Amino acid sequence: MNKTLAAQALTTTSLHVGLIGDPVAHSYSPRMQQAAFDALGITARYELWHTSAHALLERVRSLCNEQYLGANVTIPYKEAVLPLMDKVDPLATRIGAVNTIVHQDGYLHGYNTDAPGLLHALYEHGIGTLQDDGTISLKEHTAILLGAGGAARGAAFALAGAHVAQLTIVNRSLERAQLLAAEVQQTYSGGPVFSLNDPQFLVPRTASLIINATSVGMHDEQTPLPAEVLARFDSDTFVYDMIYNPTQTQLLCQALTMGMRGANGLSMLLHQGALSFTLWTGKPAPLDVMRSKLF
Ligand code: NAP
Repeated sequence: MNKTLAAQALTTTSLHVGLIGDPVAHSYSPRMQQAAFDALGITARYELWHTSAHALLERVRSLCNEQYLGANVTIPYKEAVLPLMDKVDPLATRIGAVNTIVHQDGYLHGYNTDAPGLLHALYEHGIGTLQDDGTISLKEHTAILLGAGGAARGAAFALAGAHVAQLTIVNRSLERAQLLAAEVQQTYSGGPVFSLNDPQFLVPRTASLIINATSVGMHDEQTPLPAEVLARFDSDTFVYDMIYNPTQTQLLCQALTMGMRGANGLSMLLHQGALSFTLWTGKPAPLDVMRSKLF
């Protein structure tokens, strides 16, 4: 955020920021972000910007007007907005998806806060260690990532960046899993990266981390990991399901029933939102205020 916008935001001019996507009505972001702006006395409105594909370019370019702080981007445009940015953060470039747009002096900067948001969420659940430089390390963990879509891409680069000891990507489409594994390996000098399309071949390790980044379980009572495969894992396994609605998917329910630890995606939603807030405002996000609107 530039100094002019910062000054306006803290005085009287009402600024705007919002969520670009289709659909957007279901989103929890407005209540969380609006509470954060209000708590800090910043006169900004967080709005829902339901945007059709043909209106995307116009919507994004409108963010260059001085009353806009930027935007969040959700399904199905996280990839589509990337080439519309004036500058893209290196992590967002690697992931190939932008979920946060920051307007600065007439230019649009694209970021991906989903990836670091996941690491912050895991750390909050007791997974990983905080390094002296403020980054989170997962080198004591091996990870199984279910999915190879947009959310999984962010997770894969986040896990690799946190030096996870081994990463196995399991996806219905093997080709997509292999492509993601190859891309991650290009920038990752840590442990091996495997790809699979049949979870039956999964081999449990100690301190395993299972992350569901598929949409399986969101609209139905299906699970992306058969119960008999999940049952092979120790009770020190942590299962993180990015899905937060429903709050407990079949996968999470089975993991908890088997005595494993686990959490849904609300904590990731919180932390990606908090990181976006800081990018727009230059201020630490009031995490507790934001959390109180989600949990
Ligand atoms: P996406 O790009 O459409 O990817 C969907 C993934 O799910 C792909 O890997 C796809 O496999 C797999 N999949 C879909 N239907 C399947 C089925 N019937 N059986 C097996 N695999 C199936 O979606 P996304 O943007 O990555 O989102 C994925 C999930 O993450 C959603 O539930 C979303 O709500 C959640 N999410 C949560 C947060 C958060 O903050 N908590 C943030 C982002 C996303 P194929 O490649 O084989 O098609």
